[in-house]
Amino acid sequence: MFDLLENWKRTEYTGGLNIESEGQDVVIMGWVHNRRDMGNLIFIDLRDVKGIVQVVFNPMNGTQLLTKAHNLRLEYVIAVKGTVSVRPQNMINPDLKTGQIEVIAKDLKILNSSKELPIQINEKVVADEDLRLKYRYLDLRRQELQHKILLRHSMIYEMRKFLTEHDFYEIETPLLVRSTPEGARDYLVPSREYKGKFYALPQSPQIYKQLLMIGGFDKYFQIAHCFRDEDLRADRQPEFTQLDLEMSFVSQEDIFEVIEELFYRIFKKILDVELPIPFPRLSYHEAMSRFGSDKPDLRFGLEIQDVTDIVRNAEFRVFSSVAEKGGCIRALNAKGCGEYTRKEIDKLEDIAKHLGGKGLARMKVKGGTLHSNIDKFFSDELKQQIMERMEAEEGDLILFVADREKIVCKVLGELRNHLAKELGLIDNSEFNFLWVTDFPLFEWNDKEERWETAHHMFTMPKDEHIPYLDDPEKYGDIIGQLYDLVCNGLELSSGSIRCHRPDIQRKIFEIIGIKGEELEQRFGFFLKAFDYGTPPHGGIAPGIDRIVMIMTAAESIRDVIAFPKTLKAVDLMSESPSVIDSSLLDDLGLEIKE
Ligand code: ASP
Repeated sequence: MFDLLENWKRTEYTGGLNIESEGQDVVIMGWVHNRRDMGNLIFIDLRDVKGIVQVVFNPMNGTQLLTKAHNLRLEYVIAVKGTVSVRPQNMINPDLKTGQIEVIAKDLKILNSSKELPIQINEKVVADEDLRLKYRYLDLRRQELQHKILLRHSMIYEMRKFLTEHDFYEIETPLLVRSTPEGARDYLVPSREYKGKFYALPQSPQIYKQLLMIGGFDKYFQIAHCFRDEDLRADRQPEFTQLDLEMSFVSQEDIFEVIEELFYRIFKKILDVELPIPFPRLSYHEAMSRFGSDKPDLRFGLEIQDVTDIVRNAEFRVFSSVAEKGGCIRALNAKGCGEYTRKEIDKLEDIAKHLGGKGLARMKVKGGTLHSNIDKFFSDELKQQIMERMEAEEGDLILFVADREKIVCKVLGELRNHLAKELGLIDNSEFNFLWVTDFPLFEWNDKEERWETAHHMFTMPKDEHIPYLDDPEKYGDIIGQLYDLVCNGLELSSGSIRCHRPDIQRKIFEIIGIKGEELEQRFGFFLKAFDYGTPPHGGIAPGIDRIVMIMTAAESIRDVIAFPKTLKAVDLMSESPSVIDSSLLDDLGLEIKE
């Protein structure tokens, strides 16, 4: 049999070579990253998974070798035997980790050739994303992308190590599951054996991890693949990965402690960053009223202030009527933006309107008082009170939103993020973690006129709110033992202490309208398990993709997933989803409706 690599065994990765390797005979293998052919002297940058090193072909080792090297083109796959040599002082390349040395080639083997490339790998200019996704295997050769994928590996490795040391067991759960939607739409898999019946791909292993606690495993984790068939947003993918974990006999604080230590460990090991732990905590209510968001970015201030009590007394009908109707008026001090042009302010107003706000009232601080086209409706005293509340100084711009609380939070929360970017208030090297706690258990769905769970339906209410489950007037006041981990304005993970009492779990299902036959069909098997000694338990599921995004400052979630899909849930490389053979449809008893 012909053995391409007979007598050629790799001795080193390029990244491992350094000044101490001087004089060493090495065999290296990889891709031609760059070439400079000067006739009698050929320089090749050889790239492998751990780095790049310069290889020099010169006539000293025979013209045959030089002739062979002339044939090399970008991305040819080669093996080189050579000797490590220290570069003369004036030839050192400070941009390259191996820039102090080079390998003087003694032998070359061309292992494979490459066609001309559809996307360049060795250039800073990055090709159009659709083209990169089509040729993902080439895009993955780019060092920038490779770094992110390898960091992801190191992070998962550290997670596994940490959790194993802390008595967690890694247990796999099925991918073909019963369809029990948890909020999003399920991806469905038709059954061939049972025509007309379907499996679903899990939105998360939620039910299984709870069953593992009932099964007595105490602490579980899994690097879990999850699937949600929903309209995608910029930081979402139809399939994504969570570090799913669950613990028995714990309270919220125990879960926070494990997660804080875990994040401390991975940031220290991988980025050499020491995260300050414990992370600060903020209740949902506080987060919404101070920052207009349940995932506030606390790398900057720009706090929102409520001014309803002050401006309700002004003669400005827009404000007073909102206050009378039970709405609120809140404001943001855009520090130093008093000189914003009409156009710049209109842009802010467009954002407000786009988010459902009716408008954006504003006042500039000039000459020690507030000025605007509505200032005649405000007495000097009211203006003074507003200035004090907003800690307003000369040159500031105060932006007001008056509406229902939900809209006010949404608009000001978004404007706060927008202004922080515009004013350069964000320190991109910071990792600002916090816990947001005490979320309401239920939310009223105006459109469908029914209660739904704000996060998920397996959550225990706060002890003191359990009696409210029997009083429909109080559903909206029930706080769940729910928590989110937030970093730099991104929700990294959600979790909760679960209902371990079947009576409470049933009641929650009932309130959100899952009852009777439907409840038995969808969740009967799950509820039955609760009758046999369920330990109190809780968990959380940090999103792996988002953590890697934060750690690598990636702009897109697609940059931290080896084979991602587009925003339209398409894999441009394999062209999936794809049409399938009609005989396969027949086997499944399915027909496509046009
Ligand atoms: N299963 C939940 C989710 O995917 C996380 C959890 O509560 O543990 O959001």
